[in-house]
Amino acid sequence: MRPRVSDILEIIDGIAPFRLAEEWDNVGLQLGDPTAAAARIMISLDPCREAVDEAVASGCQLLLTHHPLIFKPIRSLNLQEQPGKILAKALRNNLSIAALHTNYDIADGGINDLLAERIGLTRVEPLARHDSEELVKLAVFVPKGHEEKVMEALFRSSGRIGNYSECSFQTEGVGTFRPLPGAEPFLGSPGRREYAEEKRIEVLLRAEDVPAACRALVAAHPYEEPAFDLYPLLNKGSCRGLGRIGHLSAPLPLAQLASRMKDALRLVALRVVGDGARLTDKVALCAGSGASLLRHAHGLGADVLVTGDVKYHDAREAEMLGIALVDIGHFASEIPMVSGVCARLREEVTAKGFTAEIMACESERDPFGYC
Ligand SMILES: [Zn+2]
Repeated sequence: MRPRVSDILEIIDGIAPFRLAEEWDNVGLQLGDPTAAAARIMISLDPCREAVDEAVASGCQLLLTHHPLIFKPIRSLNLQEQPGKILAKALRNNLSIAALHTNYDIADGGINDLLAERIGLTRVEPLARHDSEELVKLAVFVPKGHEEKVMEALFRSSGRIGNYSECSFQTEGVGTFRPLPGAEPFLGSPGRREYAEEKRIEVLLRAEDVPAACRALVAAHPYEEPAFDLYPLLNKGSCRGLGRIGHLSAPLPLAQLASRMKDALRLVALRVVGDGARLTDKVALCAGSGASLLRHAHGLGADVLVTGDVKYHDAREAEMLGIALVDIGHFASEIPMVSGVCARLREEVTAKGFTAEIMACESERDPFGYC
């Protein structure tokens, strides 16, 4: 089965939920037709001319990028200038373009986790934490023999606790109801009290998933009027956020850590602020431009902050605070997104029974060179 653009965006929403994106960001479909086929998909960091040319030349119908194509409001579209040329080329060639930006920065398994993995960090946590998720307990009463279908529907959006999915609890009991005139009961007859053997199934879900879970429950439940309760909980869900902070498996001198990053990220050069002999253990990182998190990282006891786009005054501030700073470059810090999204998307597309070719853009380059 060939996916549509909307099917792929739904899968991406599972990998890096669009709701996680920062308020100022512009993620999701940038241009195109959600109902169009998306059997050939390209992934690139930027919606640059090279990436669009390559996607069109490769017969792709969807280009997924990290940075959004449309970020600031467009006041006019001159087809002789950028971004008009790119937009026109994409539209003429039926190429849809969508972005997964700060939602992929924040998501579990997203760009910052990929970077933490390449640097070799353990015990990794978000660096700049957002509020914890609100949790809700859902309890539904299901006639015996129909619980699997209802659980299957609920587990699509609930039942996740840490690294465990499909968590639930069941108890048996007897439910009563009297169908009133006009009812078309699944069990029993109008006017008579029915005693039904039922199971009470409890699952945990995030408050924002309640509407989807209720819709799925009602669709899968055999009763005309499914009975279910929703309880707000005092316990909180997981906490997400930008950047990551973690530990090296063993402390390393700053110069050695820099050299490891050069190898792991295949860098020609990187910039280091701090004494190369200084031991580093706790490492904070933020893919892209994360120098604004310097004081925060220092406050959390990080020995070093790894990011891109470091300015002169950021370096001076790091010296003043006594925290090391490593600038690996914006492009290098985020290019692992391409292989990361390719791999996850291939897995998910196959798992959902779709057939699509997913390829990495090969022509985009870091705009900065070294000589
Ligand atoms: Zn970026």
